[in-house]
Amino acid sequence: IPDLERTDVQGLLNHLQDANAVKFQWMKRRIVQMWPKWQAAISSLKNKKDLTKTVQKKVLIHIGLLANENKLHFAEEAGKGGPLGELVQWSDVITSLYILGHDITVTADLAAIQKALGNVVAKKLCPQKLPNDIDLVYVDYIGLRELNSKIGTLLPQFLCKLRVVDSFGTEAQFNFNLYKEKIDGGSMGAYGRYNLNLRQYQTMFPHSPDNTFLGFVVNVKPLENTDKKMRRKAKALVYGKHYSMWKDLPNKTFLEVVNRYLEVHATVGGGSASEVSSHLPSFVINHGVVTPMEVQKLLNESMVFVGLGFPYEGPAPLEAIANGCFFINPKFNPPRSRLNTPFFKNKPTLRLFTSQHPYCEEFIGKPHVYTIDVKNVSEVERVMKEIMLKEVDPYLPFEFTHEGMLERVNALVQHQDFCYQNHWPPLKALITEKGGAGKSCKDVCLAKGMVCEPEFFNSINSRTSLIEHGFPCNTSRLEEVPSLIAPGFRPEPAACIVQTQALMFSCTGTSPSTMRLCPCRKYKKGQVALCVDC
Ligand code: UDP
Repeated sequence: IPDLERTDVQGLLNHLQDANAVKFQWMKRRIVQMWPKWQAAISSLKNKKDLTKTVQKKVLIHIGLLANENKLHFAEEAGKGGPLGELVQWSDVITSLYILGHDITVTADLAAIQKALGNVVAKKLCPQKLPNDIDLVYVDYIGLRELNSKIGTLLPQFLCKLRVVDSFGTEAQFNFNLYKEKIDGGSMGAYGRYNLNLRQYQTMFPHSPDNTFLGFVVNVKPLENTDKKMRRKAKALVYGKHYSMWKDLPNKTFLEVVNRYLEVHATVGGGSASEVSSHLPSFVINHGVVTPMEVQKLLNESMVFVGLGFPYEGPAPLEAIANGCFFINPKFNPPRSRLNTPFFKNKPTLRLFTSQHPYCEEFIGKPHVYTIDVKNVSEVERVMKEIMLKEVDPYLPFEFTHEGMLERVNALVQHQDFCYQNHWPPLKALITEKGGAGKSCKDVCLAKGMVCEPEFFNSINSRTSLIEHGFPCNTSRLEEVPSLIAPGFRPEPAACIVQTQALMFSCTGTSPSTMRLCPCRKYKKGQVALCVDC
């Protein structure tokens, strides 16, 4: 039975202990600051859903990126312009699991996780002695690699319990260790090839339906009437908290255009004041890296949040939109990916980034988001003119609220099971769709207002299913192969393709000549990870 009466934040903070106090400092602050909102969210969720019937899980959480603090300096850089998205997500995942009443252990140190897993792991995970009272292990790629290399090959009985927190997503060809074909771009195996169920990779945004959308929570300062007026103070806040994000700006003149309409502010760090300012245009008013609360305040006073093209897919633009800003989202043409961009070179996905923030581009759009070519000065000019005449209401998709996150994490923890039979979402949610040649199932489902649901691939993977949905498979040759585009139909030479390797099922796989049969499902409005009745 989960403990659903956890009202004291200290109980959670006690779980975040490390000899190096700096490691958890930024996360603890976020947790304390958001605590009242978490409390309100769990009360509201309890009113809608009977959580007393849920099962308490024993959950181990290992934050690998903090376990290597001496090398990576994640915690140390948190206040100096270093990446914060991961710390945002870890804080929110930990808090969700705790508030939902689970029995959690949090580690950020190799020796600590070894201890938490029990001696058996040190003895190379002897299967008879697996710590089988542990139900779930949340870890990141860094932590997983370290566990694997320092502790020994991880056994299937343990691997199936993993949930790998993975911002950008992992595709089938990077996960399946026997994938033979050449993959373009950087190296293939930098991220492991652990043969996990792809849904064990849990992402920051709902961009890769093969994986699970885990998400995070967006900070909002409720708008008061006075704040609305202050926004008319006409500030622009630039998205870029480390001077390196400003160094190689393709074209700084677009900021000059913005500055003709609005005062340009920024929160940039990463070095001494003079070092930082040497990389910024002189008209930029720099506040240095500030606390998340101060970011909220600046966003409240700003009319527009301006992207520089980096960092990719962070939390900040959602905060800006939730605080009533327009977001100028730099468009990438050609799209960026591991084929042409060093940042993505070794990432285990071929996903194409058509802008700095694809979620804002695809899921939010106008009136909040302007995805434009910032090198095109006249386009920037046009957008600024338009913005100056407009008002926009704050907007926050439900899935990024505290309650949305609790609802989602609860469903995932209760229903996803990759050790035994996973039957979630239930098959009744399956809607099968035929795709056009060259289309991925991700796109086929999206075009119909649905998402690709990999759980259902197995149910439509047969000659019978292909025939039922109109492919001429009673007269065509049957190809039973491991394939990223199965099940599907290729007209020339006519062949029906059926999957023989479950690890190769892929929502994103395409081939110019093949039409795919796709497992789609509808989703709850504002909560894409969940289907309507499940
Ligand atoms: N942030 C902050 N201080 C600043 C600038 C940003 O605390 O001066 C916060 C911001 O509010 C957000 C988090 O940093 O919650 C992560 O922001 P970003 O989108 O930049 O993602 P990252 O690239 O760090 O993953």
